[in-house]
Amino acid sequence: MFKAFRIFILLFVFALVALGTWRAKTHSVEWKHTLPVNIFLINADGSAVAADYLSSLAVENFKPMEAFMRDEAARYGRTSNASIEIRLGGIIAMQPPAPPHNGNVVEVIAWSLKMRWWAYHNSETVGPGPQVKMFLLYFDPAQTKRLAHSTGLQKGLIGRVNVFASRDMAKQNNVVIAHEFLHTLGATDKYDVATNQPLFPDGYANPDLKPLLPQHYAEIMAGRTPLSQTEAITPASLDDALIGNKTAQEINWL
Ligand SMILES: [Zn+2]
Repeated sequence: MFKAFRIFILLFVFALVALGTWRAKTHSVEWKHTLPVNIFLINADGSAVAADYLSSLAVENFKPMEAFMRDEAARYGRTSNASIEIRLGGIIAMQPPAPPHNGNVVEVIAWSLKMRWWAYHNSETVGPGPQVKMFLLYFDPAQTKRLAHSTGLQKGLIGRVNVFASRDMAKQNNVVIAHEFLHTLGATDKYDVATNQPLFPDGYANPDLKPLLPQHYAEIMAGRTPLSQTEAITPASLDDALIGNKTAQEINWL
């Protein structure tokens, strides 16, 4: 009897979590209201460089993402409601759980639940409705040359993004943060995982361009601007990135 009761409670909790997740997921891309995107800053390597850099950051540093979303929404004929509002949630002293390296499906799901639990307990947002939480992990570029992969979870509307603690990299960081943010809204990657080359046509900002290559902009979910069949470059800033048709469909703009 007691066991049956426990299973019932457990199923009930699962159903609530699933319902809450589904509602947050669908409401986040209804675009009836401005979607708040909360930025949390984390010193990932405990360095003085990252600590200094974190304390110098203000909400203005992330505002280009607001402008990017607004301009792109306008290109797809969306009203001003289809926009985001960047909010700076402050510095978090705790480290979020690291995603599994080449993990299997079970490990990835377990990590995703742990990450959502961690986010729930370590960060707060103000106001009602679905809100996105982006956790930015800053690394001293002198100590870390290559950053590990970042992740954006649609379930839970959470991003975990590795970035460089450097003023020179700030604009490029915003490209990575915007990419992971769009994952939280259901946008998918549009590059070849084996070569990192943008996939044609969905990973091309302008698939109708003649000649097709070099492209002049990066599709944000491809992450890079293809110059030839084998070369692509990371855009210097969001000014060099666009949201392509497929991504616009995925985030309910079309
Ligand atoms: Zn991605």
